[in-house]
Amino acid sequence: MIKVEEKLFENRYRVDEGNSHVRIKDPEVCRECETPACTWACPAACYTVAEEGGVALSTDGCLECGTCRLVCNEHFNIDWAYPRGGYGVLYKFG
Ligand code: SF4
Ligand code: SF4
Repeated sequence: MIKVEEKLFENRYRVDEGNSHVRIKDPEVCRECETPACTWACPAACYTVAEEGGVALSTDGCLECGTCRLVCNEHFNIDWAYPRGGYGVLYKFG
């Protein structure tokens, strides 16, 4: 059976360096967050628990699904937008 990681590897991304389309509004809020759903709900594992506390976000493999924005529904701590035209994920199979 094909793994999710293998399917994700089929995608390509055009990263808009310096213009992340997903942003954590206040990192301090993440440090206090007791339900960091972003770290387990993101299908591309863009959010990870940071060693120094809080979460680290890397949007390079973002699938633009919007899940993180929805699951951060206690703190509304994520600024979310689609990438600028020409940037973001390129799905090989549509
Ligand atoms: S769910 Fe929201 S507030 Fe909690 S760690 Fe994730 S981004 Fe931060
Ligand atoms: S939009 Fe989807 S893939 Fe992108 S960071 Fe949020 S949950 Fe992850």
